[in-house]
Amino acid sequence: MNKIIIQTPMDYIDSLRGRNLKVYLMGVRVEEPVDHPMIRPSVNAMAKTYELALEAPKLATTMSPISGERVNRFLHIAASAEDVVQQNKLQRRLGQLTGTCFQRCVGMDALNALYSVTYDIDAQHGTAYHSRLKAFIKEMQLHNYAIGGAMTDVKGDRSKSPIEQADPDMYLHVSKRTEEGVYIRGAKAHQTGCINSHWLIVMPTLRLRPDEADYAIVGALPVEAEGITYVIGRQSCDTRGLEGEIEAGNAEFSGQEALIIFEDAFIPNELIFMNGEYEYSAMLVERFTAFHRRSYVCKSGVGDVLIGAAATIAEYNGVEQASHIRDKLVEMTLLNETIYATGIAASYQSRASPSGAYLCDELLANVCKQQVTRITYEMARLAQDLAGGLLVTLPSEADYRNEEIGPVLAKYLKGREAVPTENRMRILRLIENLTLGRNAVGYLTESLHGAGSPQAQRIQIQRQMKLELKQQLAKNLAGIKEVTLNAHDDHL
Ligand code: SF4
Repeated sequence: MNKIIIQTPMDYIDSLRGRNLKVYLMGVRVEEPVDHPMIRPSVNAMAKTYELALEAPKLATTMSPISGERVNRFLHIAASAEDVVQQNKLQRRLGQLTGTCFQRCVGMDALNALYSVTYDIDAQHGTAYHSRLKAFIKEMQLHNYAIGGAMTDVKGDRSKSPIEQADPDMYLHVSKRTEEGVYIRGAKAHQTGCINSHWLIVMPTLRLRPDEADYAIVGALPVEAEGITYVIGRQSCDTRGLEGEIEAGNAEFSGQEALIIFEDAFIPNELIFMNGEYEYSAMLVERFTAFHRRSYVCKSGVGDVLIGAAATIAEYNGVEQASHIRDKLVEMTLLNETIYATGIAASYQSRASPSGAYLCDELLANVCKQQVTRITYEMARLAQDLAGGLLVTLPSEADYRNEEIGPVLAKYLKGREAVPTENRMRILRLIENLTLGRNAVGYLTESLHGAGSPQAQRIQIQRQMKLELKQQLAKNLAGIKEVTLNAHDDHL
């Protein structure tokens, strides 16, 4: 990898070139992903995290005690609740600017979770993971690299644990150990922004058993490391961008998810941050997912775009003053702010861990993510309601540009007199992009399954709902004085 210091979005885009990655998309090996027209919008979205750092340094950068430098907030370890809150504010802003997943939060959340977990492992085992991680973070900060966090295994038969799988590669594991480090095999699914990153951090995806120590591996690899293959996932309407700028709906930005296959890829000792401490895998998963579940306030930024698009199409259709239209916009705002409120509350309630890093409130983080799984779908329904049926019957950009039929379409597809037909088409395509098209991948299905499917949050909420305490509160006010079973027997 080029050992450059990335400052501008262009530095970032250039830093991704010439890495000779093994990337497949639609059956073809992609020579240079950065310049592929279907991939480039996702690169642009990640590049926005670099641009905002220059334009709004107070929001998107901070001083790091680890490197002693001003660093991108995506590479910072939160040293106060305010730091955790600032992450959310940054995420909402980037959602507003891109209307999609800008991909850099997974690495941030992985670093923040690992910072405290490696500290705890070292305290128990006398290992050196924490100092290694700090050295790694310093290197990342000084170069301003982007990091992908690779947690979700492909999992095979869900009724079986990693060691019980017919194929051991269903969960990433150590395939060989040497004096210098470990080799890993397996595959990580749905990996956000991995090809647009410089480094990957692999982590286990679930609680592990004592006989599954080979699966308890955490380490960092450069994205171009030998033995790694990437297969980019199809996204709804992802070829629209090849058909025209209007057709894409949001031609500039998109998310990215890929399957990463590790075939005996090597991690040197100095980049290993957990190696066999199976009893810490659940702690790591829980801390990482808590961070990432409240990171989903990113969707409130995308929701701002959707509300703006819905209000605009109402205006273009000449119905913006109708009371039921205004009420639907109020409802969308209410829903959208609920996502933000729960996420930012989880961040405000952060507490210091023994490592000094701050950890967000797990219960509220899970409530935030659970709300996201529902609210985005209702927001999409309301936006489609406001858009009208033309959302899915609109003729193509090619027809609109056709010399013969184009002017006829411009006449018949016109809404309010002062608004050009093309503007009406553009805003409809944006709503389509967010609710049915390419960025619905991030706004809807990723909201459902990303950072864990809905049931995973319900399990965590159940664990932390303190039902006994709440029952006691109710009983106190109701004047219920419970007696123990023995005392009751005595009474009888
Ligand atoms: Fe960040 Fe949201 Fe994308 Fe996760 S889904 S990486 S929180 S933008």
